[in-house]
Amino acid sequence: MDSVVLSRRGLLRRAAGASALGTLAVLGADLRPTAARAQALRIRGSKTYPSVCPYCAVGCDTVVHTVDGRIVNVEGDVRSPINRGTLCPKGAAIYQLHVNPNRVTDVLYRRPGGTSWETLDLETAMDMVAERVKKARDETFVERTEDGKTLMQSLGIYSLGGATMDNEWNHLQQKLMRGLGVVAIENQARI
Ligand code: SF4
Repeated sequence: MDSVVLSRRGLLRRAAGASALGTLAVLGADLRPTAARAQALRIRGSKTYPSVCPYCAVGCDTVVHTVDGRIVNVEGDVRSPINRGTLCPKGAAIYQLHVNPNRVTDVLYRRPGGTSWETLDLETAMDMVAERVKKARDETFVERTEDGKTLMQSLGIYSLGGATMDNEWNHLQQKLMRGLGVVAIENQARI
C-alpha cells in the first residue's frame, strides 16, 4: 500500500492523469505526452481562448475552443502551473455551463408574496436593482456615530458574490460597494 498521503488535489491530478494516459494507450499513442504534443492534439481549426475554472479557489486554468463563434470544448490548460492540464469532475463539466438546454437565460422575478416567476427584460431588472440599492442606501447610510465619530457606512446593504465571479469582476464589485459605503462584502470563491 502506498504510504504517501495524497492531498485532495494531488489525488485528483493523479486520477485525471491516469485516465488520460489510459485513453492514449488504447489509441496506441506515445505515453509520454509533452506540452507541445498535447497542444498538437487540440481540436483542429478551432480558435482557443485561455480562461479559468469558475468553481473554486484553486483557479485551474482552462482552454476554451470555439468553431464559428460557438464553444465546442473546454479543457484543462497544459501550460498552467496550477493544474497542468487536469480538471476535477466539476471543472471537466464547465462546457455544460454554456451549452446546456436547461440553462436559464432570462431574468426571472418573483414579487414579494408572489407564487410564480415572471420574466423581465434585463433593462427593467437592472433599473429595479438600482432603485432598491439607492433606497436602501438613502435609508441606512450613517455619516457619524452617536458620539460624533465619522462612519460613512451603508449598514443596510450586504454584498455576496458567487463562484462564477472572477478576480476582475470582484475588483469592480468591491470598488462599487466601497463607494456606496458598504462594508459587508463577501464572496464564495477567491479566484
Ligand atoms: S473546481 Fe475548477 S478550479 Fe476547483 S479544482 Fe476543480 S477544476 Fe480546479
